[in-house]
Amino acid sequence: MKICPRCGSKNVDWIIPQNWSVWECKDCGYTGPIIDGDEKIAKEIREDYELKLKIEKSKSKKDKKDKKNKEEIENKETKYEETEDEEEIEDEEDLTDEEIERRLDELDI
Ligand SMILES: [Zn+2]
Repeated sequence: MKICPRCGSKNVDWIIPQNWSVWECKDCGYTGPIIDGDEKIAKEIREDYELKLKIEKSKSKKDKKDKKNKEEIENKETKYEETEDEEEIEDEEDLTDEEIERRLDELDI
């Protein structure tokens, strides 16, 4: 079974007739060598990929939030809100990163 090494999808196509090693994944846009695996491997890769997406999402969410906070602070000029928001971000980030790292270690990829 051919699966995408990035996201574990089976929705992959061989795109270059002259080059057997280049495949394209229709789900995540990956191009390159494909791997041969079974349902179990596909599931593991997919879980790892979703975890990475989650990390990316939480990072971009944080960036957005930081930017928004800055704008709000500049607009309103209220100092007590700055402290409150910072604490909120730290708590959220600590929990998420810890959980993500723990799960990545378990996956051993
Ligand atoms: Zn893929």
